[in-house]
Amino acid sequence: MKAALKQAEKAIAIGEVPIGAVIVYEGKIIARGYNRRNTDKTTLAHAEIACIRKACKKIGDWRLEGCTLYCTLEPCQMCAGAIIQSRIDRVVIGTTSPKSGCGGTLLNILQNPDFNHQADVLYGVLREECTEILQRFFKDLRRRNKERKKMLRLQQAQISEHPVQIQQAQISEHPVQIQQAQLSSQQPAPHEQEVIRQ
Ligand SMILES: [Zn+2]
Repeated sequence: MKAALKQAEKAIAIGEVPIGAVIVYEGKIIARGYNRRNTDKTTLAHAEIACIRKACKKIGDWRLEGCTLYCTLEPCQMCAGAIIQSRIDRVVIGTTSPKSGCGGTLLNILQNPDFNHQADVLYGVLREECTEILQRFFKDLRRRNKERKKMLRLQQAQISEHPVQIQQAQISEHPVQIQQAQLSSQQPAPHEQEVIRQ
């Protein structure tokens, strides 16, 4: 699971929701993957799907019998389906997903007795770490969204009916930077000064 968490860190590094997975076969990691949904602009770029794709290539078969998949977050309906379709024997899950978990939270696709294959499932391995990395990501995302909204409001206020008061408020908050920016925007550039003189 530590290796899966390392994959989740790779997702965070590119601004993706941090979800990582690895597949182990005969005691060795044969495939690693992390969420790249926004980067690759496809809903298929989930960590588990990337892992399954790589493991199939490595083993040379679509059947992944004898494999264990470790994932930091409970698989969604798509990934749980792919896990069962690829005959993965065992799934080790870090933390549960209340919005899309199909390893028992919303549905239990991994262990539906009506399918032709069921996986053994182990929950809660490094649960705290797997939960913390997601909480950290979303906390940071909320903070950045809040800052962006604040900036947008400020920009909209600048072009509203009371530009003078807004500028005064800005100057009192950031006097040096604002004044410098105003000076540089007000003063003509050197080549413009020449044009004016002519
Ligand atoms: Zn998924």
